Amino acid sequence: MTSLAPATRPTLTFLGAAGTVTGSKFLLAVDDRRFLIDCGMFQGDKEWRLRNWDPFPTPPAGIEAVLLTHAHLDHCGMLPRLVKQGFTGRIYCTSDTAELATIVLLDSAHLQEKDAEHANEKGYSKHAPAEPLYTQADAEKTLRLFKTVEFDTPLDLGGGVSATFTRAGHILGSASIRVAAGGTSVLFSGDLGRRDHPILQSRGTPAPADFMVIESTYGDREHPAPEGLPHEAMAEAIRKTIGRGGSVLIPAFAVDRTEIVLKVLSEMFRDGRIPHVPVHINSPMSLAALHVYQAAAERGELRADLKDADWITIPELHEAKTQEESVALNNPSRPCIIIASSGMATGGRVVHHLQYMLPNPKNCVILTGYQAVGTRGRDLQQGAEQLKMYGRYIPVRAQIVTDGQFSVHGDAGDLIGWLRDVGGDPEAVFIVHGEEGSAEAFAKKIKADLGWMGVVPHYEEVVRLTTSHPTKASVQLGATGSVNDFDI
Ligand SMILES: [Zn+2]
Repeated sequence: MTSLAPATRPTLTFLGAAGTVTGSKFLLAVDDRRFLIDCGMFQGDKEWRLRNWDPFPTPPAGIEAVLLTHAHLDHCGMLPRLVKQGFTGRIYCTSDTAELATIVLLDSAHLQEKDAEHANEKGYSKHAPAEPLYTQADAEKTLRLFKTVEFDTPLDLGGGVSATFTRAGHILGSASIRVAAGGTSVLFSGDLGRRDHPILQSRGTPAPADFMVIESTYGDREHPAPEGLPHEAMAEAIRKTIGRGGSVLIPAFAVDRTEIVLKVLSEMFRDGRIPHVPVHINSPMSLAALHVYQAAAERGELRADLKDADWITIPELHEAKTQEESVALNNPSRPCIIIASSGMATGGRVVHHLQYMLPNPKNCVILTGYQAVGTRGRDLQQGAEQLKMYGRYIPVRAQIVTDGQFSVHGDAGDLIGWLRDVGGDPEAVFIVHGEEGSAEAFAKKIKADLGWMGVVPHYEEVVRLTTSHPTKASVQLGATGSVNDFDI
């Protein structure tokens, strides 16, 4: 366990999304006050997933508030665990994030409980008995702590600490958060969307800050400029699969990705680019999220051109609500398209579809987004010949296709553009939420393009935030728990 040194100036501790893409958690200490920015779950590699079980590095009861950027599990998924371990403060986020996080956390708790139950029944857990990380009761208790904020309206947290949420254009409700505290300011990018999101309003530009913490999922890459028709990789895969009598499985994040996939499929049906086949949404969570998006469209919260527009028009759209309906899709009576979560096939109903669909070469799996190292999605993308599911190996004979045009993360150019738009003269930019090569490459790009110092922090590293002139010494937190000086 890491004990934090007394903070004479604000300190920032990187408790996740450092050295990995998932588990975003940043602890901001101002004197004896503690604020947590995001409380995400580690996903993917087992080495990281096991850290979800570690005691929280600082007593949760001592954290005053959580500031939540958005509702993805790798940003909010450990909130119920934090509450279970004693956190009783407020969780601040936008109203759409609160709605989506409600869906995500209840679903996550349900999956945790189911997985533990399943492991106990089948006896494949190393722990006996297997336990969930948290339960639905923990999630419900967590949701009662949520308090919503408006975009671009400073939230006064008292004692000279304030936080301002600005649109991040990543998923509905997503925000970058600028915290002013103790004579300094830190801007947390959260996940940043591309300049032009197919459904959401574009991201805004926060005020400059002394320090910035920016994601770097695609920090070493540019999204390829679209050639020809949009999403042709997907359209072609659907045409061929249906042509040979197979079915298409699209693993998709329930929140945002499913909505975009439905919009894209609607356009393909409308333009006659794919044959008319039934589309099944097999995810109660996706359906719930879809309703939040539809309500947002009616409020004018989405792109202006979607207001009042019928942006999801699929001739035969079916919703699999019950477990029986879900299982029935494993033997469809005719070729169809199934959309199920989770997007990286780490859990959820998509796993049992993979189990049934992967062994048949007539079928096709279309991956629609970033697949983190250690996930089944990444293994499929990299040509795995078998996948482990529920303790068994399943052969992969189905066609695997990646449609790279779905990303809702900005690429290196988008991220640099955001930093440039924010401007100012930051003391340092901390690069997080990227695999190692990606974060390092982005640090170099920041230096080359903007002349700013980019630092890739280590997991559990602590830095002092001071606006005096730093000489950029950054040392890994030692066993003594000393704070790394950033202003030596
Ligand atoms: Zn996200």
